[in-house]
Amino acid sequence: MSEKKKTLTTAAGIPVPDNQTSMTAGERGPVLLQDHYLQEKLAHFNRERIPERVVHAKAAGVHGTFTVTKDITKYTKAKIFSKVGKQTDVFGRFSTVAGEKGSADTVRDVRGFALKFYTEEGNWDLVGNNTPVFFIRDAIKFPDFIHTQKRDPQTNCKSDIMQWDFWSQVPEALHQVTILFSDRGIPQGIPYMNGYGCHTFSFINAENERFWVKFHFKTQQGIQCMTPEEAARIVGEDPDFHTHQLFEAIEQGEFPKWTLSVQIMPEIEAENFRWNPFDLTKVWPHSDYPLIEVGVMEMNRNPQNYFAEVEQAAFSPSNVVPGISFSPDKMLQARIFSYTDAHRYRLGVNFERLPINAPHATKVQNPYQRDGAMRFDDNGGPGPNYEPNSFGGAKEDPAFNEPPLKISGDAARYEQKRGVDDDYIQPGNLFRLMTAKQQWELIENIIKSLKNVPNEIQEKMVVHFRKADKAYGNGIAQGLGLM
Ligand code: NDP
Repeated sequence: MSEKKKTLTTAAGIPVPDNQTSMTAGERGPVLLQDHYLQEKLAHFNRERIPERVVHAKAAGVHGTFTVTKDITKYTKAKIFSKVGKQTDVFGRFSTVAGEKGSADTVRDVRGFALKFYTEEGNWDLVGNNTPVFFIRDAIKFPDFIHTQKRDPQTNCKSDIMQWDFWSQVPEALHQVTILFSDRGIPQGIPYMNGYGCHTFSFINAENERFWVKFHFKTQQGIQCMTPEEAARIVGEDPDFHTHQLFEAIEQGEFPKWTLSVQIMPEIEAENFRWNPFDLTKVWPHSDYPLIEVGVMEMNRNPQNYFAEVEQAAFSPSNVVPGISFSPDKMLQARIFSYTDAHRYRLGVNFERLPINAPHATKVQNPYQRDGAMRFDDNGGPGPNYEPNSFGGAKEDPAFNEPPLKISGDAARYEQKRGVDDDYIQPGNLFRLMTAKQQWELIENIIKSLKNVPNEIQEKMVVHFRKADKAYGNGIAQGLGLM
């Protein structure tokens, strides 16, 4: 505890004589309007909440370090990967998806795995999940899908019917549904799950060659999962279980680590690969594109203030640095828009200036943006606020242009092609690589949820499960009394 006596002040820094008693006209009289301190206290309290994230509202955050262990400079010129041993600060935010900010941690849900790397050429945000794929491959479906994960418009309760109704009509969801209802659907804790960049991104090397890339963070703690029974008990006993667990581990010096690996596809191979490599509902099989080790991420420092560092943390897939870029993945393209849009709404137009979001190499934050709500740095000082200018202002640098990306085709709304690139093979492959126990648990978990929905939706789902694998579909049909 600090020895120095601190005087309580108003927000304007004026000493406060009394924080327990409001100013009244006489001992029993009404409160005086001139008690501005009381007004300020109540008014600020009324405004403490900022809009909650529509998805990924409940989270734990932690700082850490990324260290390069293997040389991948032939694929990317990104400075974060420029030499073995190089270290970069990172902040991670690990969330559930569907629940509100106060919801329980140990629920069956995908987990957000959002990382901000404070590189010397600006912040690289990798806003991934603990699963390598997603429920949909086109963001035009995203608001509908998320509505099915949230609350029924009439009852305000979660609804198994809404989600299975949607999934039964969107077979591309089957792969992610299979992961969600597998044992990995409820992690034992944040340190015990993998993270994936999910989308296909691009790497660009010093020769300006493009490679397609997928990012994988494999837990060094080992995958550990929770049984549904254990998870349900903990929901009641300690809804913030995963948040506590991570915070306490870091306080005790138990720093979780993940190995970062990448899968690399030369640009030209995307054209003839049997899967659409930009489809977010698909993985690249390891046998086609093996994992290449890159480095290790260690999380080792707890935030000092949750609101400042975790609630105000704003990640966006649009934050890529030279040497890392986008791909034609339709979901990625939409997320490039929607994350920054959400942050402007939630935090205001100057959200990138907040300390948790600002690059650590501050000299890289040089745009000509000025003013806007809550601009609390020097706002560019006396420097020029337009470009081109003759007064030494920052200038564009064509050296950072990316190699052109060849695109062809007619503008239209395309359905994903079927055939070998179908929605059933990969979920079936996942089912087939599970042990008999894992298969049985998957089927049990699905039955527990699917038994609550109308028969016609159950039947549609059984058709999908059977197409993935006969035994998968038959197990569920049997459990639902449909055979
Ligand atoms: P591999 O045998 O080379 O890889 C299988 C992968 O599945 C491993 O990464 C393993 O992770 C992971 N896995 C095991 N159980 C589960 C589960 N319940 N939920 C999610 N992932 C799990 O095969 P392929 O690369 O050919 O892929 C086969 C299937 O494995 C895919 O269809 C996909 O469903 C799944 N998968 C593939 C990934 C990829 O990038 N290729 C990544 C993750 C899953 P671990 O080694 O950590 O146990």
